Amino acid sequence: MHLVGGHPTYIPLGTTANKAGRVAGANAAGGRERFPGVVGTSIVGIFGMGFATAGYSVEQARAEGFSPIAARIEAQARPRYFPRARRPL
Ligand SMILES: Cc1cc2nc3c(=O)[nH]c(=O)nc-3n(C[C@H](O)[C@H](O)[C@H](O)COP(=O)(O)OP(=O)(O)OC[C@H]3O[C@@H](n4cnc5c(N)ncnc54)[C@H](O)[C@@H]3O)c2cc1C
Repeated sequence: MHLVGGHPTYIPLGTTANKAGRVAGANAAGGRERFPGVVGTSIVGIFGMGFATAGYSVEQARAEGFSPIAARIEAQARPRYFPRARRPL
């Protein structure tokens, strides 16, 4: 379930498999747990830069009937006190 759009979605990530597996295991052992869904958070590193996403892109949000507002920010991927912290390229 996509927690923003509120409908079934297919975002096959290990983090989702892990959480869903824990819920399935608990329920198989008599529990009554629920896995509420995902917002599709992911990050990938390419040539030293990090590309991350969570929720919908502007295009996806429009397609889902939302009226998104977009803003661009530049920020460090690591706090100043972390090793290799630096301003964005
Ligand atoms: C190259 C690659 C990189 C990825 N990187 C990331 C990442 O960085 N972060 C992230 O969150 N996700 C990542 N993923 C996705 C993540 O690995 C999968 O979403 C996750 O492993 C799915 O888990 P699963 O348990 O549903 O399925 P699987 O991990 O595919 O496990 C299914 C298991 O069932 C077994 N099986 C299949 N059929 C049968 C059968 N008939 N009888 C018995 N056993 C069977 C298979 O052998 C397998 O062991 C990546 C995937 C790939 C391919």
